[in-house]
Amino acid sequence: MRFLVDAPVPGTSRRRRADVLLRGLRIAVYVDGCFWHSCPQHQHLPRTNREWWQRKFASIVQRDHDTDRAVLAAGWTPVRVWEHEDPDEAAGRIRSLAVDLRAVT
Ligand SMILES: [Zn+2]
Repeated sequence: MRFLVDAPVPGTSRRRRADVLLRGLRIAVYVDGCFWHSCPQHQHLPRTNREWWQRKFASIVQRDHDTDRAVLAAGWTPVRVWEHEDPDEAAGRIRSLAVDLRAVT
């Protein structure tokens, strides 16, 4: 599978870069850090400035959703991988998606 690293999805904001682009299959992979992207298993709120952190985390999650919508609108499939996920399992998930997409196209 050919891929690009750290590249914007064509037709979307160049400031929001996917971690991996599989151009032939139009799959955009984002590896989300557990702390910043509010992983349900590992998120924790810092003790100081809690309201600021809550707003910060909420804005990042909102931006992720907005990015996913823009990627879908551009005809690509966004895939979110948590930082804590096993890389082999994540790759398997993407491989399965690739098989499904190939079956459709
Ligand atoms: Zn996590």
